[in-house]
Formats: sequence, structure tokens, C-alpha cells
Amino acid sequence: MRIIDIVKAKNGPTISFEMTRPKSEQGEANIGNVLDKLVVLKPDFFTMTFGAGGGTRDGSLKMLHRIHAERKQPVFAHLAGYGMSPAHMDETVEKFKEIGIENLLVIRGDKPHDENFKEQEGSFKHSSEMIKYLKPRHDMCFCSSAYPEAHQEAVDLDTDIGFLKEKIANGAEMIITQYFYDNQFFYDFLAKCRAAGITVPIIAGVMPIYSVKMMNILASLCGATITEEVKAGLLTINVDEAVEVNHWGIDFAIKQCADLIDSGVDGLHFYTLNRTSSVTGILEGLRTVGKL
Ligand SMILES: Cc1cc2nc3c(=O)[nH]c(=O)nc-3n(C[C@H](O)[C@H](O)[C@H](O)COP(=O)(O)OP(=O)(O)OC[C@H]3O[C@@H](n4cnc5c(N)ncnc54)[C@H](O)[C@@H]3O)c2cc1C
Repeated sequence: MRIIDIVKAKNGPTISFEMTRPKSEQGEANIGNVLDKLVVLKPDFFTMTFGAGGGTRDGSLKMLHRIHAERKQPVFAHLAGYGMSPAHMDETVEKFKEIGIENLLVIRGDKPHDENFKEQEGSFKHSSEMIKYLKPRHDMCFCSSAYPEAHQEAVDLDTDIGFLKEKIANGAEMIITQYFYDNQFFYDFLAKCRAAGITVPIIAGVMPIYSVKMMNILASLCGATITEEVKAGLLTINVDEAVEVNHWGIDFAIKQCADLIDSGVDGLHFYTLNRTSSVTGILEGLRTVGKL
């Protein structure tokens, strides 16, 4: 099933979950259980990340099989094309299609830290070019990434949105954003996108706060602002108590998501990091107060 059709048919915001390849033996052993717990929450679709370095690609395919073939869930296969030749991208997409995947989230990816990594001949510099190449060759639903606070390498938000418009012109039918802790970033970004003539659904990325350490590491990697509200809130609890931080993160996300839903957001996309308790708490909270 094409995810754009699910998004268009939904009366209200879609709910979706991003999964990653399990990185430990324990994670691998537990992933079936994790997926089952997430499926029970009745998401509209999943997405499955892809390692730009190459090392995690088989893991991505295995996960796609678990989500799509075993659990019958609609899923976007991410394709991070950094350094991949056009033929290698085609070959990868064919592998997705062989297991029945109909949805592709095309991103550039970042240069892997591996010093032996070599870019293949003809590789593309930006995801807009990847979409332009892939779209006519693969009859699938295409999705793009976007950054409410602007991408870290972007000249500024307006320029970044100009390139986002190119991705849509080249065939992306919907957008999923990076996460943010202040909804105003998203509202300003959304207004600029609409003013620029981008009319496709824009799904808001939500990163539950799982631990303070993880929050700081992830934000430093992707450039998300840790707002004064978050900093002040975390000062009111014992941040060394994992359960307390988790509960605070759930409450914060419930308020954030409720506000996004009230604004008429097209969808909420949760970066699960293969965890279940926070998204379960957030969705239960939203359902309890009648927001979903
Ligand atoms: C929803 C989502 C999912 C993601 N999934 C993954 C994943 O599975 N694997 C992974 O490795 N990474 C993933 N990422 C991270 C992503 O790969 C990085 O953020 C990467 O740095 C940018 O990829 P992009 O496709 O968004 O960038 P692009 O759209 O290629 O843009 C990158 C930069 O180049 C600029 N730019 C774009 N087009 C042009 C142009 N034509 N000329 C000049 N400059 C241009 C942009 O302003 C931006 O600063 C994801 C990000 C998001 C938001």
C-alpha cells in the first residue's frame, strides 16, 4: 500500500514510527517483541532507517521484511544514497521491491566516518538529484526529509526550503521532518513551505526524551535546539532517575503533540530508537484526553 494514500485518506493526523537496525545481540533477540508492542498501538505506517556507510544495509532489509512481510505494516524504506552510484541505488531499490516494499524515503545521508569509505562513480550530491534519478525508474511512493530549524549545512531556512521545493518538483509526495522541541519552529517552517508553494503533507518528527545524555548527544548530532523550557523542566526532576526522566519526557511530548494536533498537523512521526514505553505512554496520554 502506498503511504501517501493512507495519509490522504486519514481523517486526522497519521501516527508513524521510525525503526532502526538492532545494534546488539540483545536488541536483535528482542526486536520482534518491540515490533509487536508497537503494532498494538495501531500506527498508520512505519519507516526503517538505512546506513549511508553500507554496514547496516542487510540489517535494514531484514527489518523491512519483519515489518512489511511478517507484520503486514506499511513501511517507508529509507534510502540514504551518499556515495552510491546510480546503479547501486537501483539495485538496492530492487531488493526493497522484491520483498514488496512500495514506499521510499530518499535522503542524502552523511559522509561515513570510516576512512576506507569511497564514493562510487556518478554518486549524487543532494537528495533532490537522487529523487530525480529514481522516480522515473521506480513506480513507488516517494518521501523527503526536511528540517524545521534548517539543515545544519544550509545557508539559511529559506534557501533550504528552496531545495525542499526541488525535491517535491522531482517527485516526493510527502515530507517527514526532523524533530524539534519548540513547536514554533515547526509552525514557522510550515508557513514558509506553504508560502513557497509546497502543498504536500508535512509530517512532524517527534523525539521523545528518553534520557538526558541521549537527548544531548542526538541534539548535538542533528542541531536540534534544546529549549529553555526543556532545560528548566529537567531541573525540576532527578535526572539520574531513568524512570523519572522517561515520565517527564512522556508528559512533555503529550503537551507538544496535543498542541500540534490542535494546529491541524498532517501527522506525528515518532523516532522510537526501537523503544516502546515512551511512545506507548504518549499515545495512551493523547487518546485519554481525546486528542487521537
Ligand atoms: C526524516 C529523516 C530521516 C532520515 N533517515 C536517515 C537514514 O535512514 N539514514 C541516514 O544516514 N540519515 C538519515 N537522515 C539524516 C540525513 O541523511 C542527514 O540529515 C543529511 O545530512 C541530509 O540529508 P537530506 O536528504 O535531508 O539532505 P539534502 O536534501 O541533500 O540537503 C543537504 C544539504 O544540502 C543543501 N542542498 C540541497 N540541495 C541542494 C542543491 N541542489 N544545491 C546546493 N545545496 C543543496 C541543503 O540545504 C542541505 O543543507 C534522516 C533525516 C530525516 C529528517
